[in-house]
Amino acid sequence: GKNNILLDEVLQEKYLGGLIAQGFDEKSCLSRHQSLWKHKGPQPHRPSSHLISKLRNYEKLHRRCGPHTKSFKKSLEYLNSSDHGNYDKITDCKYLVWKSRDGLGNRMITLVSAFLYALLTQKVLLVDPGAHISGLFCEPFRGSSWLISSPIINRFMNFGRYSPHTYDYILKWENRSVIPPYAFMYLAHDYTEEDKRFFCDEDQAFIRKVPWLVIQSNVYFVPSLFLMPSFQKELNLLFPEKQTVFHFLGRYLFHPTNSVWNSITTYYNSYLASADEKIGIQIRIFRTNPDPFNELLEQILACVIKENAVLPQINDKMMMKPGGVQSNRTKAVLLTSLDIRYFDAIKKMYEENSTQTGEIIQVFQPSNETKQDSYNHIQNMKALAEMYLLSLTDKLVTSSKSTFGYVAQSLGGMRPWILYRPEEYNATDSKPACQRALSMEPCFQAPPTLECKTRERVDTGKIVGYVRHCEDMSWTWGLKLY
Ligand code: GDP
Repeated sequence: GKNNILLDEVLQEKYLGGLIAQGFDEKSCLSRHQSLWKHKGPQPHRPSSHLISKLRNYEKLHRRCGPHTKSFKKSLEYLNSSDHGNYDKITDCKYLVWKSRDGLGNRMITLVSAFLYALLTQKVLLVDPGAHISGLFCEPFRGSSWLISSPIINRFMNFGRYSPHTYDYILKWENRSVIPPYAFMYLAHDYTEEDKRFFCDEDQAFIRKVPWLVIQSNVYFVPSLFLMPSFQKELNLLFPEKQTVFHFLGRYLFHPTNSVWNSITTYYNSYLASADEKIGIQIRIFRTNPDPFNELLEQILACVIKENAVLPQINDKMMMKPGGVQSNRTKAVLLTSLDIRYFDAIKKMYEENSTQTGEIIQVFQPSNETKQDSYNHIQNMKALAEMYLLSLTDKLVTSSKSTFGYVAQSLGGMRPWILYRPEEYNATDSKPACQRALSMEPCFQAPPTLECKTRERVDTGKIVGYVRHCEDMSWTWGLKLY
């Protein structure tokens, strides 16, 4: 009856439909239970009961095997010793250490990918001690920690594409019946065909036995896990609705720390909360020479005003009739960019002109950092706050190929309008300025293309209906869940 409905609402809001475990200390991480997404209205997606129980079981595993446990100490000793006998006699705990690289959006999509792989293979996810994760995110796993510090783990963080620990390198060993104590899975965009064998079931049989796997990536490799027969059944149970993988795992993992949360809530309440509609525009420019400013501004306006009416046309001052349309409706535009000029131009346009719908348009940009500096912790905090704020908007416009935009859209559960790359757009031909994404998932920008057994090229966008090519990459490249 009524009580059940109430309970259901509490569960939905406070624990995100059961995604978040009960029993956390709330004050030390306010964002975990106060997420602002409820202001967007009832959340249309619900985590499956299978996903919820998988997460509770994972948390138990993490508590049993994580840092400061007996198993963890024994496993580290094994790693440090030169005698690598039968690991299974020591413990059944196995670890996946995530090594960071690139911008925060890239880091977040690879953390979700690594976590899903850990869930599927019963490994314990630990994070790069050098990535300042604890200043950005609260601990995600109740009763334990994903942070590590140990001299040997610090040494793992020096691994790179050409280390003699990559899977490519291991494949050249003569005797592969011996399981090494650790191995490095290099899964970034420039990985080799041999490294890509990570996504083959035959190779996983070996890889998943390695007690300490170090993983480094800068791409969202989840879609290729969905193409592996050995994981398919489990993934179907976990995610009956395929396009919700990042939506749920991201909301499960990423709770901004109190200091980041304070900036998010203050900004939201000051500038966005009272608007009738919130519009996010994420402008990410990968090529700045020649300066794309004029053309890109024109492209953005074509997308949001002409093609999709996300924002209203302005009135022509000379043609205005007395007593034009009046409306009390307000729209708040949250613009994020390293560059301030787009904000200046759009804000000026709406300040100096009335709109044809009578709506009042307010434009905001929280920061303008000028240059990407992913080693700058303050910039990363701002970036996190801005991705989160974008996820709170009602309609979102993003830039092609930007993981910053991917995080915002999937956390928010939105299918954005994606701006075509500026170098592909020309206002004079009849091509559109942007296109609507078909799903909220991030794109895997560098998937393997060879079939595991035959080693022949296959179109991986045609194997199953729910893994297809991405909207923001050329159509033979990139994979995404739909
Ligand atoms: P991607 O390069 O667009 O895929 O996104 P990433 O987040 O991986 O890397 C871009 C990085 O540049 C961010 O993490 C920030 O450090 C910085 N950056 C880019 N755009 C913005 C922005 O709009 N706001 C802020 N605060 N930082 C940005």
